[in-house]
Amino acid sequence: MIVVMQKGATEHEINYVVERVQSLGLRPHVIHGTERTVIAAIGDKRDEHRASLESCPGVAEVIPILAPYKVASLEVKPERTVVRVGPFIAGNSHIGVIAGPCSVETEEQTLSTARAVKAAGATALRGGAFKPRTSPYSFQGLKEEGLKILAAAREETGLPIVTEVITPADVPVVAKYADILQIGARNMQNYRLLEEAGCAGKPVLLKRGPAATAEELLLAAEYILNTGNHNVILCERGIRTFESHTRYTLSLATVVWLHQRTHLPVIVDPSHGTGHSALVPQMAAAAVAAGADGLIIEVHPRPEMALSDGFQSLTFEQFETTMELCRKVAEALGRVLGAGVPATCQ
Ligand code: PEP
Ligand code: MN
Repeated sequence: MIVVMQKGATEHEINYVVERVQSLGLRPHVIHGTERTVIAAIGDKRDEHRASLESCPGVAEVIPILAPYKVASLEVKPERTVVRVGPFIAGNSHIGVIAGPCSVETEEQTLSTARAVKAAGATALRGGAFKPRTSPYSFQGLKEEGLKILAAAREETGLPIVTEVITPADVPVVAKYADILQIGARNMQNYRLLEEAGCAGKPVLLKRGPAATAEELLLAAEYILNTGNHNVILCERGIRTFESHTRYTLSLATVVWLHQRTHLPVIVDPSHGTGHSALVPQMAAAAVAAGADGLIIEVHPRPEMALSDGFQSLTFEQFETTMELCRKVAEALGRVLGAGVPATCQ
């Protein structure tokens, strides 16, 4: 249920409703909107308590939440959530751009990539240190050593770090270095991991599972939101279909569908979504046209030498031209891509 407070309801009245919600065995989520405050009351036996909440002082109305996902829904919060970490802004007029290698391999590889993507207008650096690989014989990542390299790149460039955490036990070490915790597609429904990551106090980037519906993605996001962490970014990264000319099938309609149901920012990963560097620039631009609030793109100084996902990684030059293309689309829609127009293009 959503308890909608009257305009001008006092702090005291809001706190009273929060206490009532708790005493009824429900979990309160307070959302302060520009117009009014609403309190989402989440739990199993919601509807029984409707009348009791409706009669609390300062309450305008109590409405059932129809969507199966609650805190993520537009019903609870009609205003868009904007996730900001330093120069990275995703939501409303801003399109955040996260770029970098699939895996952190060496300091030189990561630092040179960080410099190049920053110069092209990216606002965050990606790089996997804990890698969830399909084969146990593939490169598994540099782990904490990789996190230290990412931290050095942040130190030099000022770009916040986005990196994946693959087990609940690794959350503390990853959160020590990362600015945004990435939950990978394979872990979208690892509910204990979602909760641990939510509790780390950093924004969480949640990727859609390759076999998950968009509704399941929103329900997974709900696990993070229920920890009280409202900084959640959803990511469409392609799903498994019978089609084989692309690594996955990148569902851009899902971006629009999600925006019609959730206030959370939605970003797109055209690298994993296509699996071919030649397809990335146009699909990145198409994602911007579909209203994506951000992009996450794999970039490598020498894709042919990459220890993971080289076939879908862009060179520095390709990333720069991709940014130019996406910027034109963003400008046509009245949005700002990444850091705006870099000095080299003015
Ligand atoms: C990645 O971002 O490198 C990655 C492993 O992505 P996904 O979880 O979408 O496969
Ligand atoms: Mn990858």
